[in-house]
Amino acid sequence: MTEERLCKVCAKPFIANKYRPNQTVCSSLECQYNRQLENMKKWRDRNPNYFKYKENQDSSWRDTCRQRSLEWRKKHQEYLKLYREEHRERHRAYMKNYMRDYRKKKGLAGGGESAKS
Ligand SMILES: [Zn+2]
Repeated sequence: MTEERLCKVCAKPFIANKYRPNQTVCSSLECQYNRQLENMKKWRDRNPNYFKYKENQDSSWRDTCRQRSLEWRKKHQEYLKLYREEHRERHRAYMKNYMRDYRKKKGLAGGGESAKS
């Protein structure tokens, strides 16, 4: 069943695909693209609530994101706590050395304990 018909977009005669007997647009890329645009427009007219629905989806998706970031922060805070504890140990050791050096230096600069009073 090959029937020649006129393309709705370019008005050129074409032979409809036998798998798509209702084809109204020829198979040229430009016409197919136009058909897709037309379909999208029709689809949008038929689904006016889609974007509303999408917004709802987005808000739940945002919640999921927030939840995930909270979980991440929680984990991260635990990590930070561990890091700080470790760092505190290092800092304490560093301060101990620093104070020892400081006292040593002060002692040398001040000319010993006797200079204090
Ligand atoms: Zn065409």
